Amino acid sequence: MRGFGGPEVLRIEEVPTPEPGAEEVLLRVGACGVSYHDVVERNGTYRADMKLPVVLGYEIAGTVERVGARVTSVKPGDRVCCKVFHSCGRCRFCRNGMETACPERRAVHGGYAEYVVVPDEVLVELPDALDFATGCMLGPTVGVALNAVRDTAHVQLGDTVLISGASGGLGLPSIELAKAAGATVIALTRSTAKVQALRKAGADHVVVGGDGRDFSSEVMVLTDGAGVDVVIDNVGSMVFTACFKSWRWAGATCLSASC
Ligand SMILES: [Zn+2]
Repeated sequence: MRGFGGPEVLRIEEVPTPEPGAEEVLLRVGACGVSYHDVVERNGTYRADMKLPVVLGYEIAGTVERVGARVTSVKPGDRVCCKVFHSCGRCRFCRNGMETACPERRAVHGGYAEYVVVPDEVLVELPDALDFATGCMLGPTVGVALNAVRDTAHVQLGDTVLISGASGGLGLPSIELAKAAGATVIALTRSTAKVQALRKAGADHVVVGGDGRDFSSEVMVLTDGAGVDVVIDNVGSMVFTACFKSWRWAGATCLSASC
């Protein structure tokens, strides 16, 4: 990609295979997800860490092809997937499980290609049972949902959790993880066409809303007037007020985009 704009700015080009530095790894890309993050980087809305020309794509899984001189964590032939970004691993944020706040955090790019170089620190070994298409989305989506459900909201047995944007890449794993923690899940979606799929994914209840309409009275009916213990909001301002009104006294909220 050599400029910002619509999908037409993406071009197929032959470029040299990148060389890994001492603490970097060359991956043969097995699969790369297409995320909304890629869309806002492509159209120029999100420009942090963006330097043109760029190969987009950060939901990466693949096979280690070659490693830099100081890399000991992986070896050629290993199957791996990537975290969303590189962090230093040494600062007080990294040491406290808050790598998202690391001052040295650096975005991962380059998955829309046959080969990509990434820092060794971002790699996580992929079990044989998981294919690349599944593995590539674990860091950017399931990792964020895990952070929201387990580490930030501390969802536990008996909780009722409202999840907005429930059919999206963050919403679906949030449903599965909240169910695994023993919660009752209320999924919020804008489309009646998605109700069945959300029930199949584990949602106990589905509320169709999120288009600016106040859906909190439906949530209150579903919770016998108590409200939900936890809101995991993957949408933001369009649903925030109604989510807030769906809350029980002293509940928890978690904006997954900032987790
Ligand atoms: Zn750090």
